Amino acid sequence: METYQQPTSQGYYGRFGGAYIPEMLHRNVEELQRQYLEIMGDPVFQQEFRELLADYVGRPTPLFLAERLSEKHRTNIYLKREDLCHTGAHKINNTIGQILLAQRLGKQRIIAETGAGQHGVATATVCALKGIECIVYMGEKDIERQAPNVARMKMLGAKVVPATSGSKTLKDATNEAIRDWINHPNDTHYIIGSVVGPHPYPDMVARFQSVISEEIRKQLQQKTGRELPTHVIACVGGGSNAAGAFYHFLDELEVKLVAVEAAGHGVHSGLSAATTALGKPGILHGSKSLLMQTADGQVVEPHSISAGLDYPGIGPLHAHLFESGRGTFLSATDDEALQSAFEVARLEGIIPALETAHAFAALNQLEFKPTDNVVVCLSGRGDKDLATYMKAMDMA
Ligand SMILES: *Cc1c(COP(=O)(O)O)cnc(C)c1O
Repeated sequence: METYQQPTSQGYYGRFGGAYIPEMLHRNVEELQRQYLEIMGDPVFQQEFRELLADYVGRPTPLFLAERLSEKHRTNIYLKREDLCHTGAHKINNTIGQILLAQRLGKQRIIAETGAGQHGVATATVCALKGIECIVYMGEKDIERQAPNVARMKMLGAKVVPATSGSKTLKDATNEAIRDWINHPNDTHYIIGSVVGPHPYPDMVARFQSVISEEIRKQLQQKTGRELPTHVIACVGGGSNAAGAFYHFLDELEVKLVAVEAAGHGVHSGLSAATTALGKPGILHGSKSLLMQTADGQVVEPHSISAGLDYPGIGPLHAHLFESGRGTFLSATDDEALQSAFEVARLEGIIPALETAHAFAALNQLEFKPTDNVVVCLSGRGDKDLATYMKAMDMA
């Protein structure tokens, strides 16, 4: 049977994925490829992972029937509350998994790159928890724009290193992290924050995040007597919260999987991050996927009001879900996302992250039956976006 869940042994989902890396990284990446499934499959590892998810992250996160939102859309809408995770989003599910894996591999040093700082904070958090040295590369421009997250990382004991080349943003921070890894092949693990990067990262991160859909299945069964929802809706930057929310439904073909990208000022405005609408196959961060690029293959600088969706690519799993038709790919503009954030705040008393607001905006683009069970992955909370929300209120 064809499976959407698992890539081939070389890390391919359809024609996307693989490991396109410089020679100097082969040893590190190969070590991971060889060992990740064995380590993750070890019952002692699983027990430690599950215990931290329960006692440190606060899992299982609730599945909440959003009654007023459901009423508006004349259906049943359930919110998977990843916003209630420690540090305020789903990202910590993955960093907990990877720090335990790094320990098993005997690594004493962690590196990461971050754009908005959310992944940097999640990484700094688990490094503090385990007493492991943490270096986070971040574009100089992003360091200025994301001061609160930089402060958090520093308070947690991480060293934040500015990337001063190129556009001084995420792409440049990634280059610095890769350079660091090449220079420290033995003692360092590179924690990638989404289902991107060379094989085995997309599969490894999807597996760590798959706890989201594992819980959804159980919780839906308890609440509705049916373990399969009709729809799962999630926003997509690189695609990790979506991969986690979709994972245990990927091969249940009657479940409609809806991925929502950031359309910025509009898909064709020149200021967007709608990768599947605009992207072409290419290689970014070590894997073959869809990415926004010019005719001669230069990566196009993306735009989104939400820093977490401001990424020119998409993980290979999602590129395959798009191309195969298994996934439905929609997009929401900055303004649509803002409107939805305010709506969810007023209807449900929950201020979602701007990224998540894109997933909510997609509700307006779909048709539901009164008997449908729709799950929205509420990937994170909106505290970090308050300044943007305040600005939007001033303008309204
Ligand atoms: C980082 C982030 C995202 C986007 O990352 P994915 O890997 O696509 O999940 C979405 N929502 C929140 C709250 C985030 O912090």
